[in-house]
Amino acid sequence: MDRVYNFSAGPSMLPLPVLEKAQSELVCYGSSGMSVMEMSHRSTMYEEIIAKAEADLRKLMNIPENYKVLFLQGGASMQFAQVPLNLLSAYKTGKADYINSGNFANLAIKEAKRYADVKEVASSKDVTYTQIPDWDEKEFREDADYFYICGNNTIYGTRYTKLPETGKVPLVADLSSCILSQEYDVSKFGIIFAGAQKNVGPAGVTIVIIRDDLLGHSLDICPVMLDYQTMAEKGSMYNTPPTYGIYMAGLTFDYLLANGGVPAMYEKNVYKAKLLYDYLDESKLFSNPVRHCDRSLMNVTFVTGDADKDSAFCKAATAAGFVNLKGHRSVGGMRASIYNAMPVEGIEKLIAFMKDFEAKNA
Ligand SMILES: *Cc1c(COP(=O)(O)O)cnc(C)c1O
Repeated sequence: MDRVYNFSAGPSMLPLPVLEKAQSELVCYGSSGMSVMEMSHRSTMYEEIIAKAEADLRKLMNIPENYKVLFLQGGASMQFAQVPLNLLSAYKTGKADYINSGNFANLAIKEAKRYADVKEVASSKDVTYTQIPDWDEKEFREDADYFYICGNNTIYGTRYTKLPETGKVPLVADLSSCILSQEYDVSKFGIIFAGAQKNVGPAGVTIVIIRDDLLGHSLDICPVMLDYQTMAEKGSMYNTPPTYGIYMAGLTFDYLLANGGVPAMYEKNVYKAKLLYDYLDESKLFSNPVRHCDRSLMNVTFVTGDADKDSAFCKAATAAGFVNLKGHRSVGGMRASIYNAMPVEGIEKLIAFMKDFEAKNA
């Protein structure tokens, strides 16, 4: 069986060399005589694995010294609660400003409302999230405990190309579907978090990058396990971390460093996305609904405008080895998720297939 071009939004494609390396070490890692899955997280060998993963991520993202890197569990969705539980008493105002840019921002808002005085300072709901909301800085509250954005909207296919200026208010960003796809100046953020299963590794690990001064302010009701301080003090090992997932993420970091790092990925991602958007813009059958300046590099949505044609397309694409192109169940249509691991060739072949489908179905 050949590998397919997998356009899944997540869990999604991993670089083949990463999978092959894991395969070669699966049963016996180094001189350990055991699999990483079977290894104590307190062993010297595992400590080296997690330390290298952290060091490599720090190199890839130029993470400053005054930020901690945590490898947690619970997915990005856990962060929707963990962020307010930890940051709301940083300045003790209980206020949090959110930009509503789509489904995952909405879920974060809903969760934060359980603990915080939430203000939605901008929203693109009225245009069904086909753009990043335009914001007016006058709406931002200077005394908010934090300001929250979702950097790339996986379902709607939009991304921020500039960040809101939040002054002293810490900027928190969900970068689940864009981490390591482009360079970010980490020093502009209070917290960056990302589930691993989009651009890093298997599901089960959540990366949290947090500025030191934001540790140690959790609400009294915050469970010990969800207090960033607990995990920061224990090097992500207050309890058993997702050991194998961290090892796999480490393999991806190592692979990225050996292949030009984030700048090289960004260049390739811009090229891949442009190929696809250029085709969509000239196509008479398919179109992309997103405001051009906000188009995601990672998740490219498209529709024919006819639900039957959409499903005929997905079916034919699957048969031809282009899988998981169906859009999110909440929006329909199609979506090609083209994370770092999707080769240029996958995009070129998909476009050739779409052109062929268009010629037969326009
Ligand atoms: C996938 C995704 C999530 C949800 O991640 P889980 O790990 O399933 O909780 C949250 N935010 C964004 C931007 C995502 O792409």
